[in-house]
Amino acid sequence: METIIVSACLLGCACRYDGRGNYHEGIAQLRTKYNVVIVCPEVDGGLSIPRIANEIVGDRVINKIGEDKTENFAKGAQIALAQAQKHGAKIAILKAKSPSCGSGKIYDGTFSGTLIDGDGYTTRLLKKHGIKVYNETNFQELL
Ligand code: SF4
Repeated sequence: METIIVSACLLGCACRYDGRGNYHEGIAQLRTKYNVVIVCPEVDGGLSIPRIANEIVGDRVINKIGEDKTENFAKGAQIALAQAQKHGAKIAILKAKSPSCGSGKIYDGTFSGTLIDGDGYTTRLLKKHGIKVYNETNFQELL
């Protein structure tokens, strides 16, 4: 069975910044077809649940009270990449819009709910290493 990487919150883990999850039935069903390896880069990187919301500003990640959390995001991204490489995963399904997991669109760093083109910190690293990243809006071709 092929191995894929999946965001923990999409499988119901209450690990979002606000202590909630994002359970997605369709993604959960992929477990019948794929070996699923779960990651949560923000928690893996040492951030707490709940935590202050973060957004990407250029190459840095800054939380809502102005603290630089880039090191945590970098560590979490490296752990996700290491998991992918360890299991030979070439595909990841990561939560849309997250500063870690987002793909295609992320918030603009002003905490105003404004989306801009871009990828989250972990998504950038996985893509750089040839891993195709989907989110909950476009994973259907994997079914
Ligand atoms: Fe979900 Fe990724 Fe945020 Fe963890 S870091 S809660 S897996 S979107």
